[in-house]
Amino acid sequence: MMASILIVEDELAIAELQRDYFALHGFEIDICTTGTDGLRHASEAVYDLIILDLQLPGIDGFELCRQIRSMSEVPILIVSAKKEEVDKIRGFGLGADDFVTKPFSPSELVARAKAHLSRYERLLGNHKKEEDRAICIRELTIDKAARRVHVHGHEVVLTVREFDLLVFLALHPNRVFSKQELFERIWGMESMGDIATVTVHVRRLREKIETAPSNPQFIETIWGAGYRFTV
Ligand code: CA
Repeated sequence: MMASILIVEDELAIAELQRDYFALHGFEIDICTTGTDGLRHASEAVYDLIILDLQLPGIDGFELCRQIRSMSEVPILIVSAKKEEVDKIRGFGLGADDFVTKPFSPSELVARAKAHLSRYERLLGNHKKEEDRAICIRELTIDKAARRVHVHGHEVVLTVREFDLLVFLALHPNRVFSKQELFERIWGMESMGDIATVTVHVRRLREKIETAPSNPQFIETIWGAGYRFTV
């Protein structure tokens, strides 16, 4: 499968130069020219690598880097015209994987991207082997292979959808999902229901897994945004 890369760069000429080089090496490329658009793409699609310019209209590259990192472990490569900016982002510890200063050599950019892609593939490969291992978070243990859940060592019985919802959230810790997103991911096309069913399932899940369902420690409500599985 072709690796896909998101390029967030407001100078279209630079973005297109990057795209052409990556395309030559068999990558699939999406270009966004604003930080806002970049964030939307990064949250809606799955990329193998993200290349960020720092000075962007809307959300700048610093904030974008921070937000993408809070959602995923995807490699982030920063391209910046100013060395001081690179120093700054290093200092901020925003989770970027690499830095390239402009003007850059496109072949160097591609080489670095490839190095990060193979590192990331190894990381995902390792996760895959662990796919069937239990998820243990504080007093909660989720055995995905056996589809069993224990709280403080006691088994709790979940319905199929409750279990799927819990596993989905637990596999994406600390990330906020709207009810709509959860509905689409868990219930998908087969369901004629509405997103209120998400609220109902979250409530039942909390009653089963939370020590104090009215003050949930696992599935938190983020007002106006949705739910977050807090780790
Ligand atoms: Ca720029």
